[in-house]
Amino acid sequence: MKSTRLCLACGNAFLPLLHVPRQRYCSSKTCQRARRRDWQNSRLRNDSDYRDNQARAQAKWRAGHSSYWREYRAAHPAYCERNRSMQRLRNARRSFRPIAKMDAIRLPRPLGSGFYLLSHADDASVAKMNAWTVHIAVLSAPTAPPP
Ligand SMILES: [Zn+2]
Repeated sequence: MKSTRLCLACGNAFLPLLHVPRQRYCSSKTCQRARRRDWQNSRLRNDSDYRDNQARAQAKWRAGHSSYWREYRAAHPAYCERNRSMQRLRNARRSFRPIAKMDAIRLPRPLGSGFYLLSHADDASVAKMNAWTVHIAVLSAPTAPPP
C-alpha cells in the first residue's frame, strides 16, 4: 500500500502515480505547471548552456514576431497601464543618481557584478527613459595605473 505525500505546490495530500515513484507534485494542472516552472527556473539558474539556448531561442522568436508586443499592448490597455504604474513604482524605489565619472578607477569602491543602467554619456543626466538595463559580470578587478 502506497502512502500519500504532500504536494510541493498546493500542499494537499496526494497518492503518487505508480509509474512516477518520486512524484513530488500532485497531478492537478496548476501544480504540474508549477512543477515545470520550478524546473525551468532551476535550470535557468544553474545551467549556463540552457540559459544561453533559451536566450537564443527567445531572440529568434522575437525576430520572427517583431510586432507581437506592439499588438499585444494595443489589445490590452489595462496591461499597459499596470505595467506603467509598476515601472513608476520601481523607478521611485530606485535611488538612481546619474554617475558621470571620468575615471572609473577613482570610484570609492570598485564596481561589482550586477544590474546597471546604461545610457549614452551625452544623455546620461537627462534621459533615463532611453537607458538599457544591462547585467555586468566582473571578471577582474581594476588595477591602479602605473605611477
Ligand atoms: Zn498540488
